Amino acid sequence: MTALSDIIRARAPVNIAEYMELCLAHPAHGYYQTRDPFGSDGDFVTAPEISQMFGEMLGLWLMQVWADQGRPARIILAELGPGRGTLMADILRVAKALPEFLEAAEIWLVETSPVLRKKQAEALGDGVNWVDKIVDLPDGPLFLIANEFFDALPIQQFRRVDAFWQERMVTAEFAETFARPLARPDLDETFPLLSESKLVETSQLSHSIAGEVGQRINRHGGAALFIDYGEWDGVGDTLQAVQKHQAVDAFDHPHGLADLTAHVNFSALANAAGGQTPFATQGDFLQRIGINERAQTLAKTAPDDVAKAHHRLTHTDEMGNLFKVMAILPQTALVAPGFEYDTDNSY
Ligand code: SAH
Repeated sequence: MTALSDIIRARAPVNIAEYMELCLAHPAHGYYQTRDPFGSDGDFVTAPEISQMFGEMLGLWLMQVWADQGRPARIILAELGPGRGTLMADILRVAKALPEFLEAAEIWLVETSPVLRKKQAEALGDGVNWVDKIVDLPDGPLFLIANEFFDALPIQQFRRVDAFWQERMVTAEFAETFARPLARPDLDETFPLLSESKLVETSQLSHSIAGEVGQRINRHGGAALFIDYGEWDGVGDTLQAVQKHQAVDAFDHPHGLADLTAHVNFSALANAAGGQTPFATQGDFLQRIGINERAQTLAKTAPDDVAKAHHRLTHTDEMGNLFKVMAILPQTALVAPGFEYDTDNSY
């Protein structure tokens, strides 16, 4: 079988989006297509893998918003990129407290990886449906979650040179180069005051997915929660590669063996989605919706583990500040739990 590095070399120079797409999603070699990267034995640990509290809190949020919207009798309960299926399993367990919600929910997972679909089936049992793409979801009120999904989607990077823009590319020797300068009025408009030393990033796939989620929610009702590493807006090179819990050079790993991610630009997702798009840090959001109380209850049986997990999920030195939460709600919806205080997006 041709090695992934040879496949990339044959197409070089490739832009960063194509490089990420090949490394992460190539059908035979792509990082997510071939492995389960999560957990302490894997390359990284995500919030639902740290503690059941994360999924339980998100489950409570979804049920509250469903109740606020008049308890629609049939909903699409969907997750983008569910990994091992742990988050959805925790949501469904906590939802047993509200049987009408569970009865209303049809469960749909958006996942491209056959390896991870198998894991998800093991975690969730029968009654779960899969699609490759969000556009294939059935119509109806959409209650959707996506944790560390958008950071894995391909981005393009550009730098400004006078009145033009050059795209960052990867050569056949896996070094950086820049494409010839082009006029890009869209980038002029989005990044009007950019200094020439900085890179900017855009993600067409993220925009189209957020746009589809927003359209469905604004048309049929529902709500989405996007949780990810990133900022409301920002500039600079955020492409990073991780293997076995260590940062490695993204261009030194054209083999589909390292995870490649970029920070999520939430304002771009909000613009694509429309409707209400309140925003908070993960730490603030989880504490406002009751994670401290939940931790106190769980701590009766495993105090050290629970305290450690609570700290990792919420503390400003851990995931609490780096990770952000953005909801998408219909324009007319009530203020959603967890976003009561700051919707000024000033992080
Ligand atoms: N949400 C999980 C896993 C995050 S990793 C957790 O919190 O643990 C990213 C997930 O998105 C993986 O399940 C990966 O297979 C999936 N994924 C990546 N790119 C995708 C794409 N373009 N379409 C659908 N799923 C994708």
